[in-house]
Amino acid sequence: MAAGMMLARAGWSVRVHERSSEIRESGAGIYLRDNSLNVLDEYGLFERLAEQGTRLERSLSIDRDGTVRQNIAVPAHARSYVVPRQSLVDVLAYGARQAGVEIALNSEVQSAEPDGSLLLSDGRRQKADLIIAADGFNSRIRDGLNIGARHWELDTAVNRHFIPNRLITPKPESIQYWSGNRRIGVAPSGPTHSYVFIAFPNRDSVAKRLPLDLDDWTRAFPLLREQLPVIAAAPTTQYRYVMVECPRWHSGRVAIIGDAAHGLPPTLGQGAGLAIMNARTLTEALSREQDALKALPYWESCMRFISDETQKWSCRYDLFTRAWPTQLEFLRPAIFWAFNNFPSLTQRMRIADRGLTITPLSPHSAKAA
Ligand SMILES: Cc1cc2nc3c(=O)[nH]c(=O)nc-3n(C[C@H](O)[C@H](O)[C@H](O)COP(=O)(O)OP(=O)(O)OC[C@H]3O[C@@H](n4cnc5c(N)ncnc54)[C@H](O)[C@@H]3O)c2cc1C
Repeated sequence: MAAGMMLARAGWSVRVHERSSEIRESGAGIYLRDNSLNVLDEYGLFERLAEQGTRLERSLSIDRDGTVRQNIAVPAHARSYVVPRQSLVDVLAYGARQAGVEIALNSEVQSAEPDGSLLLSDGRRQKADLIIAADGFNSRIRDGLNIGARHWELDTAVNRHFIPNRLITPKPESIQYWSGNRRIGVAPSGPTHSYVFIAFPNRDSVAKRLPLDLDDWTRAFPLLREQLPVIAAAPTTQYRYVMVECPRWHSGRVAIIGDAAHGLPPTLGQGAGLAIMNARTLTEALSREQDALKALPYWESCMRFISDETQKWSCRYDLFTRAWPTQLEFLRPAIFWAFNNFPSLTQRMRIADRGLTITPLSPHSAKAA
């Protein structure tokens, strides 16, 4: 949707094919940082979204016994928001429609060819100068291109709970609670909602139970004794962490973007952020080099490093929770200490947060130049 809006604004004639009957997201929050917020700003959509979300002022990490391992003020120049997922897709769909994008619902794509042919599931065939495969982790278009891509589920499961009040999130803070191989993140998501994610090893059959086994979770997180019943009562969805390895993000006139290209564990809150950032730089590459056959390799060569690094660090972060040996629990604070004392580590891990300022395709540096 983001790529469609940007290309339409740049003068392209765009159609989005969505297999569902509506533009819909699950009830949950989503973290967005400057790499995507700057893009929304540029397209005049930031204010519309920001009023439905919460700007975070602090980020904390707290151990089972209440020891605060990290307490970081979000710097004024680096925005971090949590917004309802539905608000994000609504704002993008609004921007796309305003830009003249045609959105075809109930329109499932079967496959795409490098020459720009698109085959729909109802048997119709269409031709385009450029096809963007933004069809998610299980991307049928990517797999049909036979470029050697792989995707798989990781051994971590995650619940997302969307709570229709701010009782457990009175302050604009994101807090992560750690206990053994489990982690709970709590943050406000706009004026009326709180967003909670709970990550745990997929083999942990008790943790996996829905509704939550309150006795078990309270033993693991005694600090959250009062909040857990509120969390357990809220609408919940359960997922597995995923990973995508895609050796190329393009084949002829087909570009692969978003989770289809670089699905990753959500530990750094950057999956959608990368998708929006990469859509922006794809548009930039196409405005510099009109021929898609030349623009796509250029785009990938500029953006690949940021996505690859973010995937690597997201997996490390996942292992840090899920696979940390419980008998070495006493060593985990050393990792927090290292990140607290060597900001360059955080900068490397969060390279995507600065993405648009460090790529040669940066629309912002291009403007400045
Ligand atoms: C628990 C969890 C927490 C997360 N937290 C964050 C976060 O805080 N911040 C962040 O930035 N990211 C987060 N992410 C990642 C983020 O949700 C994804 O990276 C993002 O949704 C990817 O967007 P996408 O458009 O590439 O794919 P999707 O969101 O999967 O969208 C794909 C779309 O394509 C449609 N489609 C699929 N196949 C076809 C077809 N054949 N024909 C037509 N339409 C089709 C689908 O219906 C869907 O609408 C999280 C993910 C999870 C699981």
